[in-house]
Amino acid sequence: MGSCRVLIFTLSLLLLLFPVIHGWGADGHLTVCRIAQSRLSKAAADAVNKLLPEYAENDLGSLCIWADEVRFRYHWSSALHFINTPDLCTFQYQRDCKDEDGLKGRCVAGAINNYTTQLLTYSTAQAEYNLTEALLFLSHFMGDIHQPLHVGFATDRGGNDIDVHWYTRKQNLHHVWDRDIIETAEERFYDSNVEQLVEAIQKNITTEWADRVKGWETCNSNKIPCPDTYASESIKAACNWAYKDVSQDSTLEDDYFLSRLPILNLRLAQAGVRLAAALNSIFG
Ligand SMILES: [Zn+2]
Repeated sequence: MGSCRVLIFTLSLLLLLFPVIHGWGADGHLTVCRIAQSRLSKAAADAVNKLLPEYAENDLGSLCIWADEVRFRYHWSSALHFINTPDLCTFQYQRDCKDEDGLKGRCVAGAINNYTTQLLTYSTAQAEYNLTEALLFLSHFMGDIHQPLHVGFATDRGGNDIDVHWYTRKQNLHHVWDRDIIETAEERFYDSNVEQLVEAIQKNITTEWADRVKGWETCNSNKIPCPDTYASESIKAACNWAYKDVSQDSTLEDDYFLSRLPILNLRLAQAGVRLAAALNSIFG
């Protein structure tokens, strides 16, 4: 093997051993984008179809995880997937929306505002922005901001530094909320099939949650989307549900899984409904 190939091999091995997780796993993001795409107006559906690369075959869900895949190529983007609060159960844009170097606006709420602004130039056809990337970033970050531990405490990096056992497996709390709760639910209730999970949540949106959907879609400021609201809800859910009764080396089993799953399903539903509302508003 040439030294270059050895390097690539070593790097790939390292990536396999130490995956860096920046959001819902693939299934969480796919769920959010599937729900959203099914709720688009004609104008928004046409715009999304035009902006998606041809190989995606007009399936936004298939590229919803794209922003995680480019985080090494676009190193600047990795701070845009989350928010850290100073260990408080509230979110304040001015106080909390910044990156490690203190640069203001570099957090998931700022990113949602930024990519919304870029997409609003769609009808003017300015060549200033790559609107395909803007669409993929916005779709991904609308998911991330609804994952409670993506708006978590700075000292434990949104639960990344809290080691737990998910049933018998060693895991960290952030990962439990990105992936494990969803995967356990799929195994137990949905034949290990993500499409069935999507269908179940979509059914809840039209039945159990039907009278709440209008409220999810609306923003106080009338400016859609309103990431500050979504972030405030997430840190509240993080305190009330994700962090609650969990400490270093806790074992999380059925009690935790069954009481938290409804919260997680609700957040996936809200993310999907609100992504659709945002795209409908932008392209409408
Ligand atoms: Zn992410």
